[in-house]
Amino acid sequence: MNLVIRDGLGRNFLAGRWVEGEAGARIAVEDPATGEIVAEMARAGERQLAAALEAARGSVARGDLSAMRPGARADLMRRIAGCIRAIADEGAPILCRESGKRLSDARGEFEEAAAYFDYYGGLADKIEGKQIPLGPDYIDYTLFEPVGISAQIVPWNFPVSLAARSLAPALAAGNAVIVKSPELDPLALALLGRAFQEAGLPEAAVSILNGIGSELGARLVASSEIDQIVFTGSVPTGQAILRAAAENVTPSLMELGGKSAAVAFEDADLDRLVESVRGGIFFNAGQVCSAMSRLLVHRSLYDRAVEAVAALADGLEAGHGFDEAAHTPVISAGQLDGIEAMVLAAPGQGARIAAGGARLDRAGHFMAPTILADVDPGSDIAQQELFGPVLCVTPFETEAEAVAIANGTEFGLVAGVFTRDLARAHRLAGRLRAGQVFVNEWFAGGIATPFGGIGKSGFGREKGVEALYNYVRTKNVAISLKE
Ligand code: NAD
Repeated sequence: MNLVIRDGLGRNFLAGRWVEGEAGARIAVEDPATGEIVAEMARAGERQLAAALEAARGSVARGDLSAMRPGARADLMRRIAGCIRAIADEGAPILCRESGKRLSDARGEFEEAAAYFDYYGGLADKIEGKQIPLGPDYIDYTLFEPVGISAQIVPWNFPVSLAARSLAPALAAGNAVIVKSPELDPLALALLGRAFQEAGLPEAAVSILNGIGSELGARLVASSEIDQIVFTGSVPTGQAILRAAAENVTPSLMELGGKSAAVAFEDADLDRLVESVRGGIFFNAGQVCSAMSRLLVHRSLYDRAVEAVAALADGLEAGHGFDEAAHTPVISAGQLDGIEAMVLAAPGQGARIAAGGARLDRAGHFMAPTILADVDPGSDIAQQELFGPVLCVTPFETEAEAVAIANGTEFGLVAGVFTRDLARAHRLAGRLRAGQVFVNEWFAGGIATPFGGIGKSGFGREKGVEALYNYVRTKNVAISLKE
Protein backbone atom coordinates (compact mmCIF):
# COMPACT_ATOMS: atom_id res chain seq x y z
CA MET A 1 0.00 0.00 0.00
CA ASN A 2 1.47 3.35 -0.82
CA LEU A 3 -1.43 5.68 -0.15
CA VAL A 4 -1.65 7.00 3.37
CA ILE A 5 -5.17 6.49 4.62
CA ARG A 6 -6.21 8.92 7.35
CA ASP A 7 -9.17 10.92 8.64
CA GLY A 8 -11.84 8.72 7.22
CA LEU A 9 -10.28 8.21 3.85
CA GLY A 10 -10.86 4.59 2.89
CA ARG A 11 -14.06 4.40 4.91
CA ASN A 12 -17.70 5.07 4.18
CA PHE A 13 -19.16 8.43 5.14
CA LEU A 14 -22.38 7.47 6.88
CA ALA A 15 -24.41 10.51 7.92
CA GLY A 16 -21.42 12.33 9.39
CA ARG A 17 -19.59 9.27 10.75
CA TRP A 18 -16.68 7.38 9.18
CA VAL A 19 -17.52 3.69 9.23
CA GLU A 20 -16.03 0.40 8.15
CA GLY A 21 -17.84 -1.99 5.84
CA GLU A 22 -19.98 -4.95 6.78
CA ALA A 23 -17.88 -7.40 8.81
CA GLY A 24 -14.79 -5.35 7.89
CA ALA A 25 -15.14 -6.14 4.17
CA ARG A 26 -12.88 -4.08 1.90
CA ILE A 27 -12.38 -3.50 -1.82
CA ALA A 28 -8.85 -3.27 -3.26
CA VAL A 29 -8.02 -0.11 -5.22
CA GLU A 30 -5.45 -0.28 -8.01
CA ASP A 31 -3.14 2.24 -9.67
CA PRO A 32 -4.10 1.81 -13.36
CA ALA A 33 -0.70 3.15 -14.47
CA THR A 34 1.18 0.33 -12.74
CA GLY A 35 -1.41 -2.34 -12.01
CA GLU A 36 -0.41 -2.34 -8.32
CA ILE A 37 -2.90 -2.41 -5.47
CA VAL A 38 -2.38 0.91 -3.68
CA ALA A 39 -5.15 1.04 -1.09
CA GLU A 40 -8.32 -0.52 0.21
CA MET A 41 -11.78 0.93 0.66
CA ALA A 42 -14.36 -0.22 3.17
CA ARG A 43 -17.17 -2.07 1.42
CA ALA A 44 -20.60 -1.10 2.66
CA GLY A 45 -23.33 -3.70 2.94
CA GLU A 46 -26.98 -4.01 3.83
CA ARG A 47 -26.63 -2.67 7.39
CA GLN A 48 -24.83 0.51 6.34
CA LEU A 49 -27.37 1.07 3.59
CA ALA A 50 -30.26 0.68 6.03
CA ALA A 51 -28.58 3.16 8.39
CA ALA A 52 -28.01 5.66 5.56
CA LEU A 53 -31.65 5.39 4.50
CA GLU A 54 -32.84 5.89 8.05
CA ALA A 55 -30.62 8.95 8.51
CA ALA A 56 -31.77 10.44 5.20
CA ARG A 57 -35.40 9.82 6.07
CA GLY A 58 -34.90 11.62 9.41
CA SER A 59 -33.18 14.51 7.66
CA VAL A 60 -36.06 14.92 5.23
CA ALA A 61 -38.69 14.61 7.99
CA ARG A 62 -36.98 17.22 10.17
CA GLY A 63 -36.38 19.51 7.21
CA ASP A 64 -32.63 19.73 7.99
CA LEU A 65 -32.10 21.57 4.70
CA SER A 66 -35.60 22.26 3.42
CA ALA A 67 -36.67 24.21 6.51
CA MET A 68 -33.50 26.29 6.48
CA ARG A 69 -33.92 29.82 5.17
CA PRO A 70 -32.90 29.65 1.50
CA GLY A 71 -30.28 32.35 2.02
CA ALA A 72 -28.69 30.28 4.80
CA ARG A 73 -28.69 27.23 2.51
CA ALA A 74 -26.97 29.33 -0.16
CA ASP A 75 -24.29 30.33 2.36
CA LEU A 76 -23.83 26.70 3.37
CA MET A 77 -23.33 25.66 -0.27
CA ARG A 78 -20.66 28.32 -0.70
CA ARG A 79 -18.93 27.20 2.51
CA ILE A 80 -18.88 23.65 1.10
CA ALA A 81 -17.28 25.02 -2.09
CA GLY A 82 -14.53 26.62 0.03
CA CYS A 83 -13.97 23.39 2.01
CA ILE A 84 -13.70 21.39 -1.23
CA ARG A 85 -11.02 23.80 -2.47
CA ALA A 86 -9.21 23.33 0.85
CA ILE A 87 -9.01 19.52 0.38
CA ALA A 88 -7.89 19.69 -3.28
CA ASP A 89 -4.18 19.46 -2.44
CA GLU A 90 -4.78 16.30 -0.47
CA GLY A 91 -7.39 14.82 -2.80
CA ALA A 92 -5.77 15.40 -6.19
CA PRO A 93 -2.82 12.97 -5.71
CA ILE A 94 -5.23 10.34 -4.38
CA LEU A 95 -7.52 10.71 -7.38
CA CYS A 96 -4.53 10.72 -9.73
CA ARG A 97 -3.29 7.47 -8.20
CA GLU A 98 -6.59 5.58 -8.12
CA SER A 99 -7.92 6.69 -11.54
CA GLY A 100 -4.70 7.02 -13.55
CA LYS A 101 -5.58 10.53 -14.71
CA ARG A 102 -3.16 13.45 -14.80
CA LEU A 103 -2.54 15.19 -11.47
CA SER A 104 -3.64 18.54 -12.96
CA ASP A 105 -6.88 16.95 -14.20
CA ALA A 106 -7.46 15.39 -10.79
CA ARG A 107 -7.03 18.81 -9.21
CA GLY A 108 -9.37 20.19 -11.86
CA GLU A 109 -12.06 17.78 -10.65
CA PHE A 110 -11.94 19.26 -7.14
CA GLU A 111 -12.05 22.77 -8.59
CA GLU A 112 -15.03 21.84 -10.73
CA ALA A 113 -16.74 20.19 -7.76
CA ALA A 114 -16.30 23.41 -5.78
CA ALA A 115 -17.61 25.43 -8.73
CA TYR A 116 -20.81 23.32 -8.75
CA PHE A 117 -21.43 24.21 -5.10
CA ASP A 118 -20.82 27.89 -5.79
CA TYR A 119 -23.07 27.82 -8.84
CA TYR A 120 -26.00 26.01 -7.23
CA GLY A 121 -25.43 27.93 -3.98
CA GLY A 122 -26.16 31.03 -6.02
CA LEU A 123 -29.49 29.51 -7.05
CA ALA A 124 -30.55 28.09 -3.67
CA ASP A 125 -32.54 31.22 -2.79
CA LYS A 126 -33.97 31.71 -6.28
CA ILE A 127 -36.20 28.63 -6.60
CA GLU A 128 -39.32 30.65 -7.17
CA GLY A 129 -42.83 29.45 -7.89
CA LYS A 130 -45.41 31.47 -9.77
CA GLN A 131 -48.86 32.89 -9.22
CA ILE A 132 -51.51 31.82 -11.72
CA PRO A 133 -54.48 34.16 -12.33
CA LEU A 134 -57.84 32.35 -11.95
CA GLY A 135 -60.05 35.41 -11.58
CA PRO A 136 -61.15 37.29 -8.44
CA ASP A 137 -62.52 34.22 -6.63
CA TYR A 138 -59.21 32.36 -6.35
CA ILE A 139 -55.61 32.69 -5.39
CA ASP A 140 -53.45 30.10 -7.12
CA TYR A 141 -49.72 29.58 -6.79
CA THR A 142 -47.06 26.94 -7.30
CA LEU A 143 -44.45 25.73 -4.84
CA PHE A 144 -41.24 23.88 -5.63
CA GLU A 145 -40.71 21.24 -2.96
CA PRO A 146 -37.57 19.10 -2.63
CA VAL A 147 -38.12 15.52 -3.83
CA GLY A 148 -36.85 13.96 -0.55
CA ILE A 149 -34.12 11.30 -0.72
CA SER A 150 -32.02 11.45 -3.89
CA ALA A 151 -30.09 8.20 -4.57
CA GLN A 152 -27.09 8.93 -6.77
CA ILE A 153 -24.93 6.33 -8.54
CA VAL A 154 -21.59 7.70 -9.70
CA PRO A 155 -19.21 6.26 -12.37
CA TRP A 156 -15.42 6.04 -12.15
CA ASN A 157 -14.33 8.35 -14.98
CA PHE A 158 -14.81 11.64 -13.05
CA PRO A 159 -15.89 10.47 -9.61
CA VAL A 160 -15.38 13.75 -7.74
CA SER A 161 -16.78 16.23 -10.26
CA LEU A 162 -19.68 14.01 -11.39
CA ALA A 163 -20.67 13.37 -7.78
CA ALA A 164 -20.70 17.13 -7.15
CA ARG A 165 -22.67 17.73 -10.36
CA SER A 166 -25.70 16.01 -8.80
CA LEU A 167 -24.99 16.56 -5.08
CA ALA A 168 -24.81 20.35 -5.37
CA PRO A 169 -28.22 20.98 -6.98
CA ALA A 170 -29.85 18.29 -4.83
CA LEU A 171 -28.61 19.86 -1.59
CA ALA A 172 -29.22 23.41 -2.81
CA ALA A 173 -32.86 22.39 -3.37
CA GLY A 174 -33.10 20.99 0.18
CA ASN A 175 -32.89 17.21 -0.34
CA ALA A 176 -31.02 14.44 1.47
CA VAL A 177 -28.61 12.42 -0.70
CA ILE A 178 -27.16 8.91 -0.63
CA VAL A 179 -24.22 8.51 -3.01
CA LYS A 180 -23.00 5.09 -4.20
CA SER A 181 -19.38 5.65 -5.16
CA PRO A 182 -17.65 3.76 -8.02
CA GLU A 183 -15.85 0.69 -6.69
CA LEU A 184 -12.79 1.20 -8.95
CA ASP A 185 -11.82 4.65 -7.61
CA PRO A 186 -13.85 5.56 -4.52
CA LEU A 187 -11.18 7.17 -2.30
CA ALA A 188 -11.07 10.81 -3.40
CA LEU A 189 -14.84 11.02 -3.66
CA ALA A 190 -15.21 9.94 -0.03
CA LEU A 191 -13.10 12.97 0.92
CA LEU A 192 -16.05 15.18 0.00
CA GLY A 193 -17.52 13.94 3.27
CA ARG A 194 -14.77 15.84 5.09
CA ALA A 195 -15.69 19.03 3.22
CA PHE A 196 -19.32 18.54 4.24
CA GLN A 197 -18.32 18.07 7.88
CA GLU A 198 -16.06 21.10 7.90
CA ALA A 199 -18.68 23.30 6.24
CA GLY A 200 -21.27 22.30 8.86
CA LEU A 201 -23.72 20.42 6.61
CA PRO A 202 -26.38 18.75 8.80
CA GLU A 203 -24.93 15.28 9.40
CA ALA A 204 -27.83 13.17 8.22
CA ALA A 205 -28.17 15.01 4.90
CA VAL A 206 -25.50 13.04 3.02
CA SER A 207 -24.06 9.54 3.08
CA ILE A 208 -21.37 8.29 0.68
CA LEU A 209 -21.27 4.52 0.54
CA ASN A 210 -18.90 2.33 -1.42
CA GLY A 211 -19.83 -1.10 -2.66
CA ILE A 212 -20.25 -3.33 -5.67
CA GLY A 213 -22.73 -1.92 -8.18
CA SER A 214 -24.70 -5.10 -8.71
CA GLU A 215 -25.03 -5.57 -4.92
CA LEU A 216 -25.12 -2.31 -2.95
CA GLY A 217 -26.05 -0.17 -5.97
CA ALA A 218 -28.85 -2.51 -7.00
CA ARG A 219 -30.20 -2.59 -3.44
CA LEU A 220 -30.18 1.19 -3.16
CA VAL A 221 -32.06 1.80 -6.41
CA ALA A 222 -34.60 -0.94 -5.61
CA SER A 223 -35.42 0.61 -2.22
CA SER A 224 -38.98 1.85 -1.85
CA GLU A 225 -37.68 4.53 0.55
CA ILE A 226 -35.86 6.64 -2.01
CA ASP A 227 -37.66 9.40 -3.91
CA GLN A 228 -35.38 9.71 -6.92
CA ILE A 229 -32.56 7.95 -8.78
CA VAL A 230 -29.77 9.86 -10.48
CA PHE A 231 -27.63 7.52 -12.52
CA THR A 232 -24.53 8.20 -14.58
CA GLY A 233 -22.98 5.19 -16.24
CA SER A 234 -23.40 2.60 -18.97
CA VAL A 235 -26.54 1.76 -20.94
CA PRO A 236 -26.93 -1.84 -19.64
CA THR A 237 -26.67 -0.68 -16.03
CA GLY A 238 -29.08 2.18 -16.73
CA GLN A 239 -31.57 -0.28 -18.19
CA ALA A 240 -31.28 -2.57 -15.13
CA ILE A 241 -31.85 0.43 -12.86
CA LEU A 242 -34.89 1.57 -14.84
CA ARG A 243 -36.41 -1.90 -14.46
CA ALA A 244 -35.91 -1.64 -10.68
CA ALA A 245 -37.28 1.93 -10.70
CA ALA A 246 -40.43 0.76 -12.48
CA GLU A 247 -41.30 -1.45 -9.50
CA ASN A 248 -41.65 1.57 -7.17
CA VAL A 249 -42.34 4.13 -9.90
CA THR A 250 -39.24 6.01 -8.77
CA PRO A 251 -38.48 9.12 -10.88
CA SER A 252 -35.09 8.70 -12.57
CA LEU A 253 -32.50 10.77 -14.33
CA MET A 254 -30.29 8.84 -16.75
CA GLU A 255 -26.93 10.07 -18.03
CA LEU A 256 -25.69 7.19 -20.16
CA GLY A 257 -23.14 6.58 -22.89
CA GLY A 258 -22.46 8.09 -26.29
CA LYS A 259 -20.86 7.64 -29.70
CA SER A 260 -20.65 11.30 -30.53
CA ALA A 261 -19.60 12.60 -33.94
CA ALA A 262 -17.82 15.73 -35.07
CA VAL A 263 -18.62 16.80 -38.63
CA ALA A 264 -15.75 18.69 -40.35
CA PHE A 265 -16.58 20.51 -43.58
CA GLU A 266 -14.18 21.52 -46.36
CA ASP A 267 -13.80 25.02 -44.87
CA ALA A 268 -12.93 23.79 -41.34
CA ASP A 269 -9.83 25.20 -39.65
CA LEU A 270 -7.66 22.09 -39.53
CA ASP A 271 -5.50 23.29 -36.62
CA ARG A 272 -8.57 23.99 -34.49
CA LEU A 273 -10.01 20.63 -35.45
CA VAL A 274 -6.81 18.82 -34.38
CA GLU A 275 -6.84 20.65 -31.03
CA SER A 276 -10.44 19.55 -30.53
CA VAL A 277 -9.48 15.96 -31.35
CA ARG A 278 -6.70 16.15 -28.73
CA GLY A 279 -9.16 17.10 -26.01
CA GLY A 280 -12.17 15.37 -27.52
CA ILE A 281 -10.88 11.80 -27.64
CA PHE A 282 -7.52 11.71 -25.85
CA PHE A 283 -8.38 13.63 -22.65
CA ASN A 284 -8.67 11.14 -19.79
CA ALA A 285 -7.72 8.39 -22.29
CA GLY A 286 -11.08 8.80 -24.03
CA GLN A 287 -13.01 7.77 -20.91
CA VAL A 288 -15.47 10.61 -21.27
CA CYS A 289 -19.14 9.97 -22.03
CA SER A 290 -19.21 13.01 -24.33
CA ALA A 291 -15.94 12.08 -26.07
CA MET A 292 -15.52 12.74 -29.80
CA SER A 293 -15.35 9.07 -30.72
CA ARG A 294 -16.29 9.65 -34.38
CA LEU A 295 -14.97 12.21 -36.85
CA LEU A 296 -16.74 12.68 -40.18
CA VAL A 297 -14.66 14.66 -42.68
CA HIS A 298 -15.59 16.11 -46.06
CA ARG A 299 -13.83 14.17 -48.82
CA SER A 300 -11.83 17.23 -49.93
CA LEU A 301 -10.19 17.56 -46.48
CA TYR A 302 -10.16 13.87 -45.61
CA ASP A 303 -6.58 12.78 -46.39
CA ARG A 304 -5.05 15.84 -44.75
CA ALA A 305 -7.26 15.42 -41.68
CA VAL A 306 -6.42 11.73 -41.26
CA GLU A 307 -2.71 12.50 -41.58
CA ALA A 308 -2.92 15.33 -39.03
CA VAL A 309 -4.87 13.38 -36.39
CA ALA A 310 -2.62 10.31 -36.87
CA ALA A 311 0.43 12.53 -36.28
CA LEU A 312 -1.24 13.89 -33.16
CA ALA A 313 -1.93 10.37 -31.84
CA ASP A 314 1.58 9.15 -32.63
CA GLY A 315 3.05 12.14 -30.79
CA LEU A 316 1.23 11.58 -27.48
CA GLU A 317 3.63 10.16 -24.94
CA ALA A 318 2.30 7.69 -22.45
CA GLY A 319 3.16 7.89 -18.78
CA HIS A 320 1.96 8.25 -15.22
CA GLY A 321 -0.56 10.93 -14.38
CA PHE A 322 1.86 12.17 -11.69
CA ASP A 323 4.29 13.08 -14.47
CA GLU A 324 1.56 14.99 -16.36
CA ALA A 325 1.91 12.52 -19.24
CA ALA A 326 0.06 13.47 -22.43
CA HIS A 327 -1.43 9.98 -22.53
CA THR A 328 -2.65 8.11 -19.44
CA PRO A 329 -3.98 4.58 -18.83
CA VAL A 330 -7.55 3.34 -18.93
CA ILE A 331 -9.06 2.39 -15.60
CA SER A 332 -8.72 -1.41 -15.53
CA ALA A 333 -7.42 -4.53 -17.24
CA GLY A 334 -10.98 -5.49 -18.18
CA GLN A 335 -11.60 -2.12 -19.80
CA LEU A 336 -8.33 -2.40 -21.77
CA ASP A 337 -9.17 -5.93 -22.94
CA GLY A 338 -12.56 -4.79 -24.24
CA ILE A 339 -11.17 -1.75 -26.08
CA GLU A 340 -8.31 -3.66 -27.66
CA ALA A 341 -10.54 -6.53 -28.78
CA MET A 342 -12.87 -4.12 -30.58
CA VAL A 343 -9.97 -2.31 -32.27
CA LEU A 344 -8.36 -5.57 -33.39
CA ALA A 345 -11.66 -6.66 -34.96
CA ALA A 346 -12.18 -3.36 -36.84
CA PRO A 347 -9.95 -4.05 -39.89
CA GLY A 348 -12.08 -7.16 -40.51
CA GLN A 349 -14.99 -4.75 -41.10
CA GLY A 350 -13.04 -2.46 -43.42
CA ALA A 351 -11.26 0.01 -41.11
CA ARG A 352 -7.63 1.01 -41.65
CA ILE A 353 -5.36 1.58 -38.66
CA ALA A 354 -3.76 5.00 -39.17
CA ALA A 355 -2.20 5.20 -35.67
CA GLY A 356 -1.92 2.92 -32.63
CA GLY A 357 -4.11 -0.15 -32.91
CA ALA A 358 -3.18 -2.20 -29.81
CA ARG A 359 -2.21 -1.96 -26.15
CA LEU A 360 1.17 -0.49 -25.27
CA ASP A 361 3.90 -2.87 -24.18
CA ARG A 362 4.36 -1.58 -20.63
CA ALA A 363 3.02 -2.13 -17.12
CA GLY A 364 -0.44 -0.74 -16.38
CA HIS A 365 -3.49 -0.52 -18.60
CA PHE A 366 -2.35 1.54 -21.56
CA MET A 367 -4.12 1.49 -24.92
CA ALA A 368 -2.17 3.21 -27.71
CA PRO A 369 -3.81 6.44 -28.92
CA THR A 370 -5.59 5.00 -31.93
CA ILE A 371 -6.92 6.45 -35.18
CA LEU A 372 -9.04 4.19 -37.36
CA ALA A 373 -9.62 5.58 -40.87
CA ASP A 374 -12.14 4.61 -43.57
CA VAL A 375 -14.51 3.35 -40.87
CA ASP A 376 -17.81 2.01 -42.21
CA PRO A 377 -20.56 3.93 -40.33
CA GLY A 378 -22.53 0.73 -39.85
CA SER A 379 -19.62 -1.34 -38.48
CA ASP A 380 -19.42 -2.39 -34.83
CA ILE A 381 -16.59 0.00 -34.01
CA ALA A 382 -18.66 2.95 -35.33
CA GLN A 383 -21.78 1.91 -33.45
CA GLN A 384 -20.60 0.75 -30.03
CA GLU A 385 -19.14 2.85 -27.25
CA LEU A 386 -15.53 1.86 -26.47
CA PHE A 387 -14.79 4.39 -23.73
CA GLY A 388 -11.12 4.56 -24.70
CA PRO A 389 -8.60 6.59 -26.76
CA VAL A 390 -9.91 5.46 -30.14
CA LEU A 391 -11.16 7.77 -32.90
CA CYS A 392 -13.11 6.45 -35.91
CA VAL A 393 -12.73 8.63 -39.02
CA THR A 394 -15.15 8.42 -41.96
CA PRO A 395 -15.34 10.50 -45.17
CA PHE A 396 -18.54 12.10 -46.49
CA GLU A 397 -19.56 13.92 -49.67
CA THR A 398 -22.70 15.92 -48.82
CA GLU A 399 -24.17 17.66 -45.80
CA ALA A 400 -27.19 15.37 -45.84
CA GLU A 401 -24.94 12.30 -45.81
CA ALA A 402 -22.92 13.72 -42.89
CA VAL A 403 -26.07 14.35 -40.85
CA ALA A 404 -27.39 10.85 -41.60
CA ILE A 405 -24.11 9.23 -40.46
CA ALA A 406 -23.81 11.44 -37.38
CA ASN A 407 -27.39 10.61 -36.37
CA GLY A 408 -27.05 6.93 -37.30
CA THR A 409 -26.39 5.36 -33.91
CA GLU A 410 -28.68 4.53 -31.01
CA PHE A 411 -27.02 7.26 -28.93
CA GLY A 412 -27.46 11.04 -28.97
CA LEU A 413 -25.32 12.72 -26.33
CA VAL A 414 -23.30 15.50 -28.02
CA ALA A 415 -22.21 16.39 -31.56
CA GLY A 416 -19.86 18.88 -33.20
CA VAL A 417 -19.66 20.97 -36.36
CA PHE A 418 -16.42 22.40 -37.74
CA THR A 419 -16.98 25.04 -40.41
CA ARG A 420 -16.46 28.75 -41.03
CA ASP A 421 -19.99 28.97 -42.43
CA LEU A 422 -22.20 30.17 -39.59
CA ALA A 423 -25.42 29.51 -41.50
CA ARG A 424 -24.39 25.90 -42.05
CA ALA A 425 -23.35 25.49 -38.41
CA HIS A 426 -26.70 26.82 -37.28
CA ARG A 427 -28.59 24.59 -39.72
CA LEU A 428 -26.74 21.48 -38.55
CA ALA A 429 -27.19 22.36 -34.89
CA GLY A 430 -30.90 21.96 -35.53
CA ARG A 431 -30.55 18.67 -37.37
CA LEU A 432 -28.06 16.80 -35.24
CA ARG A 433 -29.63 14.36 -32.81
CA ALA A 434 -27.86 15.31 -29.58
CA GLY A 435 -28.44 17.11 -26.31
CA GLN A 436 -25.58 19.52 -26.95
CA VAL A 437 -23.86 20.74 -30.15
CA PHE A 438 -20.33 22.18 -30.18
CA VAL A 439 -19.35 24.49 -33.03
CA ASN A 440 -15.62 24.77 -33.79
CA GLU A 441 -14.59 23.70 -30.27
CA TRP A 442 -15.31 20.32 -28.72
CA PHE A 443 -16.43 20.62 -25.06
CA ALA A 444 -17.32 24.32 -25.49
CA GLY A 445 -19.62 25.18 -22.58
CA GLY A 446 -19.29 24.41 -18.90
CA ILE A 447 -21.16 23.84 -15.68
CA ALA A 448 -23.71 26.53 -16.62
CA THR A 449 -24.76 24.80 -19.88
CA PRO A 450 -27.37 22.00 -19.77
CA PHE A 451 -26.03 18.53 -20.55
CA GLY A 452 -27.77 15.24 -21.26
CA GLY A 453 -28.84 12.84 -23.94
CA ILE A 454 -31.38 11.61 -26.43
CA GLY A 455 -32.13 7.95 -27.23
CA LYS A 456 -29.91 5.48 -25.39
CA SER A 457 -27.75 8.34 -24.12
CA GLY A 458 -30.45 8.85 -21.52
CA PHE A 459 -32.90 11.53 -20.45
CA GLY A 460 -33.06 14.53 -18.18
CA ARG A 461 -30.47 17.29 -18.03
CA GLU A 462 -27.64 17.95 -15.60
CA LYS A 463 -25.74 21.25 -15.26
CA GLY A 464 -27.09 24.74 -15.64
CA VAL A 465 -30.17 26.30 -14.06
CA GLU A 466 -32.37 23.69 -15.72
CA ALA A 467 -30.82 20.84 -13.71
CA LEU A 468 -31.94 22.35 -10.42
CA TYR A 469 -35.54 21.55 -11.37
CA ASN A 470 -34.75 17.82 -11.43
CA TYR A 471 -34.42 18.04 -7.69
CA VAL A 472 -37.75 19.66 -6.89
CA ARG A 473 -41.33 18.89 -7.72
CA THR A 474 -44.10 21.32 -8.44
CA LYS A 475 -47.10 21.62 -6.16
CA ASN A 476 -50.06 23.77 -7.14
CA VAL A 477 -52.13 25.44 -4.42
CA ALA A 478 -55.58 26.76 -5.38
CA ILE A 479 -57.46 28.78 -2.74
CA SER A 480 -61.12 29.58 -3.17
CA LEU A 481 -62.05 33.01 -1.84
CA LYS A 482 -65.79 32.48 -2.30
CA GLU A 483 -67.93 33.41 0.68
P1 NAD B 1 -21.30 1.22 -15.02
O1 NAD B 1 -22.66 1.32 -15.54
O2 NAD B 1 -20.63 -0.09 -15.03
O3 NAD B 1 -21.22 1.72 -13.51
C1 NAD B 1 -21.65 2.99 -13.11
C2 NAD B 1 -22.02 2.93 -11.66
O4 NAD B 1 -23.14 2.06 -11.53
C3 NAD B 1 -20.94 2.35 -10.73
O5 NAD B 1 -20.96 3.08 -9.51
C4 NAD B 1 -21.43 0.94 -10.49
O6 NAD B 1 -20.99 0.42 -9.26
C5 NAD B 1 -22.92 1.12 -10.50
N1 NAD B 1 -23.72 -0.08 -10.80
C6 NAD B 1 -23.37 -1.15 -11.56
N2 NAD B 1 -24.39 -2.03 -11.62
C7 NAD B 1 -25.41 -1.50 -10.90
C8 NAD B 1 -26.75 -1.92 -10.61
N3 NAD B 1 -27.25 -3.07 -11.08
N4 NAD B 1 -27.52 -1.13 -9.85
C9 NAD B 1 -27.06 0.05 -9.38
N5 NAD B 1 -25.80 0.49 -9.62
C10 NAD B 1 -24.99 -0.27 -10.37
O7 NAD B 1 -20.50 2.31 -15.83
P2 NAD B 1 -18.98 2.61 -15.72
O8 NAD B 1 -18.29 1.51 -16.44
O9 NAD B 1 -18.61 2.91 -14.33
O10 NAD B 1 -18.88 3.98 -16.52
C11 NAD B 1 -18.72 4.02 -17.87
C12 NAD B 1 -20.02 4.29 -18.58
O11 NAD B 1 -20.66 5.43 -18.02
C13 NAD B 1 -19.86 4.64 -20.03
O12 NAD B 1 -20.84 3.98 -20.78
C14 NAD B 1 -20.07 6.14 -20.09
O13 NAD B 1 -20.49 6.65 -21.32
C15 NAD B 1 -21.04 6.36 -19.02
N6 NAD B 1 -20.92 7.72 -18.49
C16 NAD B 1 -21.89 8.61 -18.79
C17 NAD B 1 -21.80 9.91 -18.33
C18 NAD B 1 -22.88 10.92 -18.64
O14 NAD B 1 -22.97 11.94 -17.98
N7 NAD B 1 -23.70 10.71 -19.64
C19 NAD B 1 -20.72 10.28 -17.54
C20 NAD B 1 -19.75 9.33 -17.25
C21 NAD B 1 -19.88 8.03 -17.72
